[in-house]
Amino acid sequence: MRWYQLDVDRVEQKLHVTTNRGLTSKQVDERRKQYGQNVLESQKNISKWLIFLKQFQDFMVLVLLAATLIAGLLGEFIDAIAIMVIVLVNGFIGFFQEQKAEKSLDKLKELSAPMATVLREERWEKILSKEVVVGDIIKVSSGDRVPADIRIVKSNSMETEESALTGESLPVMKHATAIVTDSLDAQDQINMGFMGTLVTRGSGVGIVVGTGMNTVMGQIASLMVSTKKAITPLERKLAELGKILIAVALFLTAVVVALGVLQGHPIYNMFLAGVSLAVAAIPEGLPAIVTVALSLGVQRMIRKKAIVRKLSAVETLGCASVICSDKTGTMTENQMTVKEIYLNGEHLYVTGDGYDIRGDYFLNKEKVDPSLPNLESMLLYGMLCNNASLNVKKGKYYIDGDPTDGALLVAARKIGLKAVTGKKFQVIKELPFDSDRKRMSVIVEDENNMRFMITKGAPDVLLPRSSYFIDTNGRKLLKENDKNEFNQAINSMADKALRTIAIGMKPISRDVPLDSAFLEKDLTIIGLFGMIDPPRKEVKSAIEECRQAGIKTVMITGDHVKTARAIAKNLNLLPENGLVVEGYQLNQMSMNELEDVIEDTYVFARVTPEHKLKIVKAFQEKGHIVAMTGDGVNDAPAIKASDIGISMGINGTDVTKEASSLILMDDNFATIKSAIQEGRNIYENIRKFIRYLLASNVGEILVMLFAMLLALPLPLVPVQILWVNLVTDGLPAMALGLDKSEGDVMKRSPRNPREGVFARGLGYKIISRGILIGIVTLIAFMVTYQNNPDNLIYGQTVAFTTLVMAQLIHVFDCRSEHSIFSRNPFENVYLLLAVISSLLLLLVVIYWEPLQPIFHTTFLGVRDWMLIIAMSALPTVLFGFTKK
Ligand code: ADP
Ligand code: MG
Repeated sequence: MRWYQLDVDRVEQKLHVTTNRGLTSKQVDERRKQYGQNVLESQKNISKWLIFLKQFQDFMVLVLLAATLIAGLLGEFIDAIAIMVIVLVNGFIGFFQEQKAEKSLDKLKELSAPMATVLREERWEKILSKEVVVGDIIKVSSGDRVPADIRIVKSNSMETEESALTGESLPVMKHATAIVTDSLDAQDQINMGFMGTLVTRGSGVGIVVGTGMNTVMGQIASLMVSTKKAITPLERKLAELGKILIAVALFLTAVVVALGVLQGHPIYNMFLAGVSLAVAAIPEGLPAIVTVALSLGVQRMIRKKAIVRKLSAVETLGCASVICSDKTGTMTENQMTVKEIYLNGEHLYVTGDGYDIRGDYFLNKEKVDPSLPNLESMLLYGMLCNNASLNVKKGKYYIDGDPTDGALLVAARKIGLKAVTGKKFQVIKELPFDSDRKRMSVIVEDENNMRFMITKGAPDVLLPRSSYFIDTNGRKLLKENDKNEFNQAINSMADKALRTIAIGMKPISRDVPLDSAFLEKDLTIIGLFGMIDPPRKEVKSAIEECRQAGIKTVMITGDHVKTARAIAKNLNLLPENGLVVEGYQLNQMSMNELEDVIEDTYVFARVTPEHKLKIVKAFQEKGHIVAMTGDGVNDAPAIKASDIGISMGINGTDVTKEASSLILMDDNFATIKSAIQEGRNIYENIRKFIRYLLASNVGEILVMLFAMLLALPLPLVPVQILWVNLVTDGLPAMALGLDKSEGDVMKRSPRNPREGVFARGLGYKIISRGILIGIVTLIAFMVTYQNNPDNLIYGQTVAFTTLVMAQLIHVFDCRSEHSIFSRNPFENVYLLLAVISSLLLLLVVIYWEPLQPIFHTTFLGVRDWMLIIAMSALPTVLFGFTKK
């Protein structure tokens, strides 16, 4: 179908829809059945069986299975079956962990899935892009990805970037008129918007003509390569470390086996013991547990309204040393209310809060008559040069669209002006607002076909573009001292933390072309609006917490310096001698000059999104790990360049979301703090279970090694080693991954991203505790064995129990970087449950007679337990008090 050749009404007819009503829900249902979801067919899911089988592909596990087979052939059925069962259970656990990680990642994807704005049953609503059907009327604006192929019906200077389809990176200007040419390539169909392309400027409305695989993108989708699953830096580090650990474990195991054989142990016994030891000592599951810990942390973050798009961000979050945050909407409520108006050289004050339409105008403490000269026209212009709408739901007023625009609607309503209808004034062209231009204009035609332009925007942008101003005596030339008066008014408003907007107009004759570059010049300035945007309640304390955590908060805004400074002061963000740098200064500064002052700078005002990139780079040059927020299209490069790109869930655009690694569901600065806190905690938890697991493994290997060196019998049999690996190592380690943070995580300075896995004394802790666990287990074994040389099983049971108990006690030490007493041991319920269930399983294995032959155990008495507890508590008692 050549949609681009058809007029809009023909498209409407063919798709049975009208542009101002949208589809009915019945039509939507039918079409969804007919065409399916609006998605590109992605890569097929890997089957669950494969994931399950993958758990056994590990080399050592295969060797173990082979060894078991041999054991079975040799008639050792009990050993063979016991080992088989343990290996299977291990596989299942790995499988479920992987499933869980996978599921939570899927959930994440869903949460950050693209949305589309559609008109259905005459109402605009936001839906998931995949729910869009053919015939839907959709609205897109700068920063959005076009959700499906659309025939454009209305374009407000809409431009799209289609390089994904055409390779052409220059944006294409879109319009709505039909094109008659016969065979046009996608790039020349300038009245069409294509799925997946990016709106870089303006806005537009279109009718969906193709969804899913029936789009231009769908046709080439099969050509696109699927992205591989990315692994995080920590996972990579651990994988590398894992190789070393495997080598060490294998070497030590080989030594144990060789020594054992030399001491006269049967080769077959030593072989099985060696393989079991290798399986137990090799932390092959570590990267997987790390992934689980990361994804569980991610779920906790979701509960705190932070969506992580890349797992690696979880790690980087803990390293953040600077947060560069937008002011408007992130630190503030983004709920604007006009409080003051400067008109006819006088300040009027407006009462009322939020978007509530109750409120009055006062001049010198007296209520203002709406007939005050110029007041009504100023407010009317504010309503015309506007993209928001004021709506009411259950008696409460709210804004659809830009809050700055919304505030002007509310202000107009306070003197009784309601929405302007299309008949009297018709907007024939809009020059959209963006943070670079800092202004917006509309060209309006009135009922007498007279044209004029209204421009509103930052006062310091509008004043230089104005040649006249208006007061009670009519229009006058804007001279230097008049400008000064305006500037005084601007400053006085900005000092009160008010956001200032100037509004001006200019008549235009009908023969001036509407795309002239000279339109927004020679304006007549009418007045100023001053609006309040209160800071969010939680932000002040969040900034303080960040400060204590060694993280600097920097405010970035397009607003006036004075407004920015006033709000920064309110939030306690700007210290006594902190610097405020303005956009024009940034332009003049070289990179070096900026680096010289950036450590002392806390506020950047009147900046454009392009400046953000320079700011990120300067901080990074200074060695900082930078988190940067953004919402608009032009913020994307800075977000990408930062270490942690943060986008807004509510007011953010698709591009910034795609570029970011973290999405704030509530657009709130305080959420960044929570995410950093969680990020730090996750990393600490990972350190905790690495510490626990490796110390346990060191203990397991050493007890065997020492025994062989001392020419003793095997202190542990293979099943016991495997049991320890499965139960005592597995459960508590996972519970450590769910531990609460230590009280002081937000009182430490940020972690150095280059620090190794064993940094900050972790290596020492692992080795020292590990050696001691090995020694006490051996002592317990020796004492028992020497007293009962003819009952090896007895000695082995004591050794096994001591090892398990030593680990279960040691796990509490792993919860803190400080002394064991700095934490309440009953705080982590998961850990308690893990320890208790490990203990119960231990008792079952020792005391339940049917299991005794399988696990080579025997009954233990009170005196044995006294020995076991004394020995197993020793490592933790000796080291638990120290900070080392
Ligand atoms: P920020 O989001 O950091 O507050 P913006 O770039 O959005 O900064 O706004 C910069 C300035 O542009 C504001 O101080 C205001 O004067 C002006 N402005 C903001 N929104 C609009 C709008 N919708 N129409 C016209 N001017 C606006
Ligand atoms: Mg803004």
